[in-house]
Amino acid sequence: MPLIWLKKTLNHWLPQACVLCHCYHANPMALCDECEASLPWLHHSCPRCGAHQSLMAEDTTCGNCLLEAPPYEQTLCPLSYDSTVGKFIYQLKFNHNLLYARLFAQLLSRRVQGHYHTDLPEAIIPVPLHRSRMRKRGYNQALEIGRYLSKQLTVPLDYQHCWRTKQTKAQAQLDFKARQGNVSRAFRARPMPYRHVAVLDDVVTTGNTAKAFCQTLQKAGVKRIDVWCCARPPFD
Ligand SMILES: [Zn+2]
Ligand SMILES: [Zn+2]
Repeated sequence: MPLIWLKKTLNHWLPQACVLCHCYHANPMALCDECEASLPWLHHSCPRCGAHQSLMAEDTTCGNCLLEAPPYEQTLCPLSYDSTVGKFIYQLKFNHNLLYARLFAQLLSRRVQGHYHTDLPEAIIPVPLHRSRMRKRGYNQALEIGRYLSKQLTVPLDYQHCWRTKQTKAQAQLDFKARQGNVSRAFRARPMPYRHVAVLDDVVTTGNTAKAFCQTLQKAGVKRIDVWCCARPPFD
């Protein structure tokens, strides 16, 4: 379609408008330099589960992970979840604004590229949505982030080997026990041809969804799993 082609060409050559302040800028990100610097970067977190850490505990495994090792090796998460990031997530999940999928992929891609040397995962696997939620929303936001991320990192995206069998409630609305029961047996997967994968989600809150999904992937034959997420709230 000529109009789409024209739009893509113009977008490529013209300065982009910042998604936060709407100024035109030369930063290759979807944000201008000032807005990028103002993001709530997550500097100190448990390397295993990504839980917020105090400055003193920098880079040490948190008590929860020491008590019970999660079924994944490490968590990479560029942002802390605050009201600004909450607005991005809202735009992405409920306002069909996929510009934010591109922004999250850019932020995550930089974090990933600065972290791995030669051992990048063989595939990116977005946490699946249940088909009823997929029908309602029309897309899976984690998969949309994954599409950009896969291109930026040249790591294949795989969303065909696994699916969600149970519609679950938002984890933040449940107490501890209900949270664990909420996501148990929520996923299924066909045998996987990978040894090492990255599980991708937009926000990891309690970690229970990521754990349940990783356990399903382990049963499907994956030996090493890393969790990549865009933001983590400062509570557990
Ligand atoms: Zn800006
Ligand atoms: Zn931890």
